Amino acid sequence: MSGAQIDEQVVGELVRLATEATEFAYAPYSMFQVGAALLTGDGRFYSGANVENRSYPMSLCAERAAVIKAVTEGRGPLEIVAVAVAESKGGPCAPCGGCRQVISEFSRAGTLLIYRGVDGAFRRVTIEEALPDARAFLTETSPLTETSP
Ligand SMILES: [Zn+2]
Repeated sequence: MSGAQIDEQVVGELVRLATEATEFAYAPYSMFQVGAALLTGDGRFYSGANVENRSYPMSLCAERAAVIKAVTEGRGPLEIVAVAVAESKGGPCAPCGGCRQVISEFSRAGTLLIYRGVDGAFRRVTIEEALPDARAFLTETSPLTETSP
């Protein structure tokens, strides 16, 4: 399944789960509570929230929290079909460059990113649009698709 194939009901569920996950954010410094939810190739949903730290660079974005959960609680290699991101107050919340890179590690071309843009409307962007010229998608050079000698 690719991100282009998911229907409106699944998109709605991803946004609902991402919004729900904002309740678990630990964001006492920025007060910017973010949630993310992803759908895997085998039809599972995982969500996460941002976790800040008084040492700011140690903070973790919601998208990466969801990816870590999917990898560490998942069954078999992770394939991400789509990721939704939401902010607790309904504001714009695009994945940062670091999260785009981490998501790409487990994506095929067509993996969908769903987030609210600065105009307040939800955008749907493929991973290759979000990370142009990225090298590793699962269909290409990812370790998951390379064969060992
Ligand atoms: Zn991020």
